[in-house]
Amino acid sequence: MMTTIGVLALQGDFREHIEMLKKCKVNTAEIRLPEDLKDIDGLIIPGGESTVMGNLMQRHNLGREIIKKHKSGMAVYGTCAGAILLAKDILGSRQPRLNLLDISIKRNDYGRQIDSFESELKIEGIGNFSGIFIRAPVIEKVNKGVKVLSRLNSKPVLVQKENVLASTFHPELTRDKRVHEYFVRLVRKKFMIGV
Ligand code: GLN
Repeated sequence: MMTTIGVLALQGDFREHIEMLKKCKVNTAEIRLPEDLKDIDGLIIPGGESTVMGNLMQRHNLGREIIKKHKSGMAVYGTCAGAILLAKDILGSRQPRLNLLDISIKRNDYGRQIDSFESELKIEGIGNFSGIFIRAPVIEKVNKGVKVLSRLNSKPVLVQKENVLASTFHPELTRDKRVHEYFVRLVRKKFMIGV
């Protein structure tokens, strides 16, 4: 069976994720309504503005459905604003979130003067990777069971718990598909365990 990965397409850089997934040779779907979730095996939540995306998600009744679908095995990957939306704890904010990953995250915390930057990362299981950070949040704390796959200046930038993956950088803005391929493997492994 062909793997289908959806990208939340309410706001943000969802098109770039779709392009990247096509290069990984999986089916793709733009997710805007709860019924769009029906046939997908994995979901990417893109970068953008987490408050806007969170509010739209609530308005469209998507949050609850995403959580339900995740509980029945759907893998989820959030980049930047997407990582914020996956977090349990968003420091200093009460904005809507999915609460699927036990981390504490602080929005826009690399400082205003360095709005965006690129930095060479070392990712466990992948190797060197060029990290693009745009008004990026900082993961301040990871709690039990959350694995850190990459750090920058001692702060986690790519973390995983089971089939939930979150990065504070944007692999979809590079030409390097290895992080997306890693996620595709996560999506498939889940389904292999279930057979
Ligand atoms: N600063 C944004 C937020 O807090 C995230 C930025 C991004 O996704 N590139 O939602």
